[in-house]
Amino acid sequence: MSLFSAVEMAPRDPILGLNEQYAADTNPKKVNLGVGVYYDDNGKLPLLACVLQAEKHMMEAPTARGYLPIDGIAAYDAAVKGLVFGSDSEPVETGRVATVQALGGTGGLKIGADFLHRISPAAKVLISDPSWENHRALFTNAGFTVETYPYYDAAKRGINFDGMLTALHGAAPGTIVVLHACCHNPTGYDITPAQWDQVIAAVKEKNLVAFLDMAYQGFGHGITEDGAVIGKFVAAGLDFFVSTSFSKSFSLYGERVGALSVLCKDKEEASRVLSQLKIVIRTNYSNPPTHGGAVVAAVLGTPALRALWEKELGEMRTRIKAMRQKLVDGLKAAGVKQDMSFITQQIGMFSYSGLTKDQMVRLRNEFGVYGTDTGRMCVAALNSKNIKYVCASIAKVV
Ligand code: PMP
Repeated sequence: MSLFSAVEMAPRDPILGLNEQYAADTNPKKVNLGVGVYYDDNGKLPLLACVLQAEKHMMEAPTARGYLPIDGIAAYDAAVKGLVFGSDSEPVETGRVATVQALGGTGGLKIGADFLHRISPAAKVLISDPSWENHRALFTNAGFTVETYPYYDAAKRGINFDGMLTALHGAAPGTIVVLHACCHNPTGYDITPAQWDQVIAAVKEKNLVAFLDMAYQGFGHGITEDGAVIGKFVAAGLDFFVSTSFSKSFSLYGERVGALSVLCKDKEEASRVLSQLKIVIRTNYSNPPTHGGAVVAAVLGTPALRALWEKELGEMRTRIKAMRQKLVDGLKAAGVKQDMSFITQQIGMFSYSGLTKDQMVRLRNEFGVYGTDTGRMCVAALNSKNIKYVCASIAKVV
């Protein structure tokens, strides 16, 4: 008997398991569409020029790496506020946003979840059906009961908006509703601005707590356009949570750069909330790391670098859109009879392809084309070299 003899083997993370299988695959034509990562047209993870330039400046005037404040780099937090709410917006100007630097978007969600559990332990959490897999696990581990609201309608190839709205109207006051601010993962379907208005009205009427997960700002229609939903929540007079991730928009996955922002009633409330967020951080990892936050703060705070970032992010967005169109055209050319044009209506890095589990397994085993069993494919991993092969492979399994 050892201390660990009763410890069970945890199930493998489905996406990471897929990566391992991909790495072991000897098919020279293999393509990994299972990941949630943007690759450039050469199939490479980009190192953005804005990041490189910021790092060069930092190397020219190197600084020692002391501990950061618990809530992170002040200039970083200010830059996040500006990006999420608008730098001259009322919430920022009145100081009623509490923002903390976090370990990626995941860290922002986790700090928010832990804080929420301290203040409303009995609240239920609703996530979309389906959602990013970690939403459920993260809120469950924070102590909440997690349920879903309807989102994807497979038959319709779109969103079951009536179902979503009905679920929100039926939720108990205080229920925490996790919403994808843009570029829904995994489906690629976003609700329209008019539908957001209805969601916001339901959140307000039913006294729900909105938690907006913003992991892909700039990958949908543009940085401002994707952030517009935040302004709608502000205009409705709601207090809410926003997690931010720069993993994809800065291609800084491994640096773990993200944030949590909490919009409060006023400045005094924001300072109380901030003090509690700091306790959550302090008792988990004490304070965040320096490098990634410093890079993002430098880019967002230096007009020339910021312009370069916006240009580079725009290029990523445009390339993904072009790949969506190429996928639709390529599938048609490869002989797929069914209308696949829904792929160009989806937005962001992912496409719910509508392929069944059996078809996805065949794609993987027979052709070395890897997507998740749910039919999710990362469009941002397609490029001019692999697209034809991917289309031909899909055509053989559908
Ligand atoms: N939320 C969603 C919807 C995501 O897709 C992701 C990343 N895949 C995250 C949060 C987490 O982002 P990060 O990698 O910055 O922790």
